[in-house]
Amino acid sequence: MFVDYHMHTPLCGHAQGEMEEYVEEAIRQGLKEIAFSDHLPFVHLPADHPWHGRYAMRMEELPGYCEAVLKLRHEYPEIKIKLGVEADYIPNKEKELEELLSQHPFDFVLGSIHLIDDWPFDDPSLIDEYAHKDIDELWHRYFAIFISAVKSGLFDSMAHPDLIKKFGFFPRAGVQIHYENAAEALAEAQVCLEVNSAGLHKPVGEIYPAAAFLEDCLARGVAVTIGSDAHRPWEVARDFAKVKELLQETGCKELALFTGRRKTLHPLTF
Ligand SMILES: [Zn+2]
Ligand SMILES: [Zn+2]
Repeated sequence: MFVDYHMHTPLCGHAQGEMEEYVEEAIRQGLKEIAFSDHLPFVHLPADHPWHGRYAMRMEELPGYCEAVLKLRHEYPEIKIKLGVEADYIPNKEKELEELLSQHPFDFVLGSIHLIDDWPFDDPSLIDEYAHKDIDELWHRYFAIFISAVKSGLFDSMAHPDLIKKFGFFPRAGVQIHYENAAEALAEAQVCLEVNSAGLHKPVGEIYPAAAFLEDCLARGVAVTIGSDAHRPWEVARDFAKVKELLQETGCKELALFTGRRKTLHPLTF
């Protein structure tokens, strides 16, 4: 595997290591191209909200983040470095997000859903909330938000597409209908799906997305991006051998890369 399109920086408040260390690890791993995709500030929260600096970078840090990535490009000509960002989709805040994204020269925008009704459902310190929720209803809510995000046209690829499985809670009614509806929306909007290896190290212990979800997407012609979701330099390209295995098993033939928000497809040779 030759790219990693999902890497964080300490700006988001929950990652460690210098940006240079991420780049150097990518070079050591033999990657040809990477995209930094740190957490964009939340567009629905005031700038001084405590979640900025804990889950996402602060608004005043965004210009410096962009400059730092562009500077690394010149310092490491041996690897292509793309300016990406991971942006939370917040229902009914599409205008605000579009406005913020338009202010910076992003190559690649990952869309993600970490909040259901302002509950950060993937934060392990808030896991007790699940006891008060109906898991079928949560999966339904998650995928409804996911599909709205896909249709918004704001994102190039959807990060960790079945993040709602993180703690291993699955709906009694089954998962297939959610995968099919999501795959349909991705195909229709021509938005990519991210294959993200971080799930292997979460309680669920499997790649995002599940193989069946990926198959539903590939069957409809959805393109994929690949990311480790590294929050530490040594996590860059982590478990990409397993990602490769999954892509091989599901018959994925191409990988999507982005420059200035434009997608190009590249054949995968195993
Ligand atoms: Zn994420
Ligand atoms: Zn991430």
